[in-house]
Amino acid sequence: MSDALDTAAKPIKKPKRVLPEHFKSYKGVWVFIEHEHGHPHPVSWELLGKGRELADKLGVELAGVLLGGTGGEVAALVKDVGAYGADLCYVARHPVLDDYRNQPYTLGMTELVNTYQPEILLLGATTQGRDLAGSVATTLLTGLTADCTGLDIDPGDRSLLSSRPTFGGSLMCTIVNLATRPQMATVRPRVMPMPARVPDRPLRVVEHALQLDESAIVTKVVDFIPDARADKPQLPFADFIVSGGRGLGKPENFALVESLARTIGAEVGASRPAVHAGWAEVERQVGQSGKTVRPKLYIAAGISGAVQHRVGMEGADVIAGINLDPEAPIFDFANYALIGNVTELLPALEQAFARRLAAARTRRANPAEETV
Ligand SMILES: Cc1cc2nc3c(=O)[nH]c(=O)nc-3n(C[C@H](O)[C@H](O)[C@H](O)COP(=O)(O)OP(=O)(O)OC[C@H]3O[C@@H](n4cnc5c(N)ncnc54)[C@H](O)[C@@H]3O)c2cc1C
Repeated sequence: MSDALDTAAKPIKKPKRVLPEHFKSYKGVWVFIEHEHGHPHPVSWELLGKGRELADKLGVELAGVLLGGTGGEVAALVKDVGAYGADLCYVARHPVLDDYRNQPYTLGMTELVNTYQPEILLLGATTQGRDLAGSVATTLLTGLTADCTGLDIDPGDRSLLSSRPTFGGSLMCTIVNLATRPQMATVRPRVMPMPARVPDRPLRVVEHALQLDESAIVTKVVDFIPDARADKPQLPFADFIVSGGRGLGKPENFALVESLARTIGAEVGASRPAVHAGWAEVERQVGQSGKTVRPKLYIAAGISGAVQHRVGMEGADVIAGINLDPEAPIFDFANYALIGNVTELLPALEQAFARRLAAARTRRANPAEETV
């Protein structure tokens, strides 16, 4: 089930467009390695995992692209680029690249692309990745498919097949770029599975010297204030999530979701109607216009399983749906169907979990008793 989100793109009928001759020399798959002062965004590793598959299908190299300042932070990340699957890493360091800013990063990335000519360039659909991808694509006059949920290679003409929901999530479409290079795509965190980290994989490093001039950059960094809100929900990276939907009926019932989540150490998620009703903060919305999650366990209480919710959570290892309606769409893809009223099943589930967890704690505290 781990690849469920990576909606397999199928070869499609394409209009007959021939790639202009000067783009045919573009080779290789690149992944932009996003980081903040040396702290990498995990989406970069997820994209290296997918990039590895694409590069192997094409029989080309996979490269990570690291831009940053001249301190030690960038150098410390290079090893990880190899460990997560890249064959080589392009590194461009310059004091002007110390903090992320659109203009110098776009200058740096477009220079690298024009110099080394990759056929595919992938970025995370994060605040930084989205900002950079748009300006790199417009500067290079190439196509960009945003928020993809599936990436594949057309075995016919080796073009990138970028799949994503369209028409408000009611259809999936596959987009191909037939006329320009590189083919660019962004992918949200947690859409692709995290690849295994293999330390000490061989990696070539290409250091590229950029000529950047601070006086030519229109934005200035005055200060760097890390976002330290400790209470910010970390939904995309949570192992356990209990989510509530409109079926809960009223805010008091949403408290049942929060209580179960507390008991099992889970994050709280919500469907869009639950967020709109003010039962949960907007950061907790799961789905097409919310967060994409990939927990070990996702409990959906009073959530119908509409496609716009499904695209955000179907990468979970195990899904349990609680719904009055045995025909609810959630049961088409849930591993466990709990058919009944949320107001009865949520407290019952919480009690059952609490009993099991207490028993497990006792066993851990008195291991000798277990063997008696
Ligand atoms: C462009 C676009 C983007 C969207 N993005 C998102 C998104 O990011 N996330 C998202 O969630 N939605 C999103 N939506 C909305 C989505 O289409 C659905 O409307 C929404 O997911 C439905 O939420 P729900 O399941 O909570 O409510 P409903 O569809 O109303 O389902 C409620 C469910 O609860 C069940 N129920 C009712 N009472 C009980 C009870 N007492 N006990 C047990 N079960 C009960 C019902 O049988 C029903 O299945 C988007 C829509 C559009 C058009």
